[in-house]
Amino acid sequence: MIELKKLRKVYRSLRGGRCVALNDIDLKLPDTGLVFIIGKSGSGKSTLLNLLGGLDTITDGDIIADGNSLASFGRQDFEKYRSSYIGFVFQHYYLLEELTVAENVRLAMSIVGKDDEDEVKRLLDKVGLSGFEKRYPRELSGGQQQRVAIARALAKDPKLILGDELTGNLDHKTSVEILTVLKEISKEKLVVVVSHNLDEADMF
Ligand code: ADP
Ligand code: MG
Repeated sequence: MIELKKLRKVYRSLRGGRCVALNDIDLKLPDTGLVFIIGKSGSGKSTLLNLLGGLDTITDGDIIADGNSLASFGRQDFEKYRSSYIGFVFQHYYLLEELTVAENVRLAMSIVGKDDEDEVKRLLDKVGLSGFEKRYPRELSGGQQQRVAIARALAKDPKLILGDELTGNLDHKTSVEILTVLKEISKEKLVVVVSHNLDEADMF
């Protein structure tokens, strides 16, 4: 389970400006399931996800993930947490253009010391991309590229999948398809999706 305790994030600029992005957030997240966090632009969604994903440091309060306190993490703890516990999916898919679909997933798998071609195939099948292994990202639609990004996030077999506006570049029909894939994945993992689109969240 993941628990946010009086979580605060304050950004400080070099010129002395301050921005309170998160102010005393308390939240308990379950072990599995699809959780939507909805908010307007600038409400602190990406900040929250970055803290959950160990990409940025907590100003005050804490995140307890499976008994670990992120506020007390050192650099190595963060690296281990990010590489084994978290899979990120972003609005812009950030696939490596010079690698094929299968190679993109395989590279992510290598981060945890695995090289398992069957597992790559299985993951691509799971996101509905069987037969696309040898294609390059530029040969795919936006929705298909996002499916690769999801398979890549799954490659490390993380407990937590974080999606930042991951349907932001997709039409409604494709968004629903992608969220359906994540709904299926959320039977086994916790999937947290932040979005400004309440309608999509309502459908799931
Ligand atoms: P959202 O993802 O909901 O649009 P963000 O988490 O990106 O919101 O931003 C929340 C607030 O924090 C905004 O007011 C934004 O300007 C500010 N902010 C985000 N990142 C930084 C940063 N690196 N430095 C300073 N302020 C930031
Ligand atoms: Mg954002």
